[in-house]
Amino acid sequence: MIRLFVPDALAAGAPVVPDSDQCRYLIAVMRLAVGSEILLFNGRDGEWRATVVEADKRRARLLVGARQRAHAASPDLTLAVALVKRARLETIIEKATELGVARIQLLITRRTNADHTNVARLQAIATEAAEQTGRLDVPVVLEPVKLARWLDSWNQEAGRLMVCDETGGPPALGALAPHAGKTLPWSILIGPEGGFDPEELDRLRAEPFVAAVSLGPRILRADTAAIAALSLWQAALGDWVTAS
Ligand code: SAH
Repeated sequence: MIRLFVPDALAAGAPVVPDSDQCRYLIAVMRLAVGSEILLFNGRDGEWRATVVEADKRRARLLVGARQRAHAASPDLTLAVALVKRARLETIIEKATELGVARIQLLITRRTNADHTNVARLQAIATEAAEQTGRLDVPVVLEPVKLARWLDSWNQEAGRLMVCDETGGPPALGALAPHAGKTLPWSILIGPEGGFDPEELDRLRAEPFVAAVSLGPRILRADTAAIAALSLWQAALGDWVTAS
């Protein structure tokens, strides 16, 4: 069944008017008519059935029915990723959403050579992936900040940071295992196509909250590294441990 993210509060009997892109998708593309049912979620109230009660090309109206699932938040996991080429970054956003991150922090590092960023477009990609993947929330995509600034603002509540270090280090799984069963926030850091600068690596390794780890003997592209690291984290500490 079609799932849509909407910002509206969701409760039985509430009317919802999707935005114009969503209306076009529902009515012109998916050919829904009055009486069709879809699912709605808003990141707060769980997932609800909704019935189309008005189906105009430019305006659709839905009426919220019964709740299907109670809200469940994603694990407190941030993917921090240096800007890379647009297509690769879009893949990273989509896959990180499927793999259950709570937020994506875009970063500028010394060797970052991509300067495009359309955060609204990346957020739309995250929303679409969340709709498709059955999540009850949408990860937030945060405006790019400089790596050094991001580290400066680290505090107690920020938890731990797994740095994926292409120059080598202890295996990732072994570094995560001692933290099993604790519900700390975690971030995973992936560098740009040019890798980290040696000074950046020195600083990262010196931070008490950092575990710099290896993802094996091969150099991975940033998108592959992100998928591999998120999968390891989910299997060691996240919701794959309890998945049904
Ligand atoms: N140009 C660099 C590779 C950068 S790959 C070089 O040739 O060395 C982009 C990012 O993916 C890296 O900064 C790192 O965060 C991650 N990555 C790639 N392969 C990795 C590996 N084997 N172990 C840990 N991290 C890796």
